[in-house]
Amino acid sequence: MKSKPVPDLFSYESIAKYQTDLMNGSCTCVAAVHFYLDKIEQQASLNAFVQVYAEEALERARQLDAERASGHPMKPLHGVVIALKDVLSYKDHPLTAASNILKGFTAIYTATAVEKLLEAGAIIIGHTNCDEFAMGSTNEHSAYGKVLNGIDNTKVPGGSSGGSAVAVQTDCCMLSLGSDTGGSVRQPADFCGIIGLKPTYGRISRYGLIAYASSFDQIGIFGKNIPDVALLLEIISGPDGFDSTASKEPVESYSKSLTPKDKLRIAYFKEALESPSLDPEIASTLQNFMEKLRKEGHIVQPVDFEYLDYIVPTYYILTTAEASSNLSRFDGVRFGYRPVDKKPDLHSFYCQTRSEGFGWEVKKRIMLGSFVLSSGYYDAYFTKAQQVRKLLVDKTNLIFNNFDLLLLPNAPTTAFSFGEKSNDPISMYLADIFTVFSNLTGVPGISLPLFWHSNGLPFGIQAMTNRFSELSLLQVSNHWMLHYREEKN
Ligand code: GLN
Repeated sequence: MKSKPVPDLFSYESIAKYQTDLMNGSCTCVAAVHFYLDKIEQQASLNAFVQVYAEEALERARQLDAERASGHPMKPLHGVVIALKDVLSYKDHPLTAASNILKGFTAIYTATAVEKLLEAGAIIIGHTNCDEFAMGSTNEHSAYGKVLNGIDNTKVPGGSSGGSAVAVQTDCCMLSLGSDTGGSVRQPADFCGIIGLKPTYGRISRYGLIAYASSFDQIGIFGKNIPDVALLLEIISGPDGFDSTASKEPVESYSKSLTPKDKLRIAYFKEALESPSLDPEIASTLQNFMEKLRKEGHIVQPVDFEYLDYIVPTYYILTTAEASSNLSRFDGVRFGYRPVDKKPDLHSFYCQTRSEGFGWEVKKRIMLGSFVLSSGYYDAYFTKAQQVRKLLVDKTNLIFNNFDLLLLPNAPTTAFSFGEKSNDPISMYLADIFTVFSNLTGVPGISLPLFWHSNGLPFGIQAMTNRFSELSLLQVSNHWMLHYREEKN
């Protein structure tokens, strides 16, 4: 292959188009990386990145260009430029979960999902900002400072994977990875007007993902089109000897069969669409959308969901309990933050490290989690919440016996202003009402940026399918993205 001069203008549409351009010589991986590095610099004020691996990404791009030139076949993610949330381990690179307690820490191994990206030819361009230990809905709780929404800098980008969402939103990379424990991929995708997929619990190995709440955590994908997201999912999914919860369920060729079934049975929770917390314009848009689906011949029916008021408390009891246990390993003894004037006895040293190293939101959740697990309150809170989770799982199984798809809003409102909910944790937590359901039950969920609000901000719809039915989820998503996406006016 003859190498052509680097084109002045690089524009990205999809992995397929990009790789065709690479093959016919109208583009190079080096040109792509330069383009994204420039963008990252231009958008620096949004604070989406905490680390940019410029030299390394360029070096890898050069290698890939040289491999192609010498006739090597392209791997599926050849040259695809990807950013990682700062909770994903990448050997010999900084890893902090946006927390002071891990400042200066360097990853000693690579997460399985990241390893798979690299094996498939991807280029990692940097680590992105997030809420500390992935706890938050606004990206205001980060040791690196807040991330701004690229559409309106006065608005939050959503959280906790706000940096990964803004990186894709503002074309600082082709795709990015985040983590979703209660909505941290779907909600920022919604606030930023891009796609956010949370796969089935266990679809992607969690090895190398810093744990927040292990029975909820799942790596998720941000992108701008479904074929890209489907390809990435196909590559990073599958069993893993390092994570016993990573499922052996076969990984389908998600990206190769994106034609949807003709007629779908679609359910929605009436209580959700009638929820007083839901913005009326979002509610009416979603109702109209469902009416349109009905007219197309799909069955669209409400199902009773009597548990709506219980899902947020259940989520916060169980996740804080798991967090209090997971985060006990951060004690300053072997790695991470160490106070300068450290206290002489071990117990005071632990207290000092954790008091100084963790931010307030994380400390609050560790305390809450310790409380719900304490002997006097265990049954009243933790056991009760486990029982509610079981009811939710049973309910979900019943729904998916009769329906192919479940629809919900992503969030009660569009992106809100900084500080608007910071002093009111209850209202902040309640805003997770529509996303925590899929983490409590383990089903996959996707946020699709189909609509624009009269306030000028994007919002979408959340679709869910049964466990491990990502293929049908991606098929409908592709159809809706191609045919029903509103243009901003
Ligand atoms: N907003 C939710 C929380 O603060 C979700 C976090 C997440 O998914 N990581 O717990």
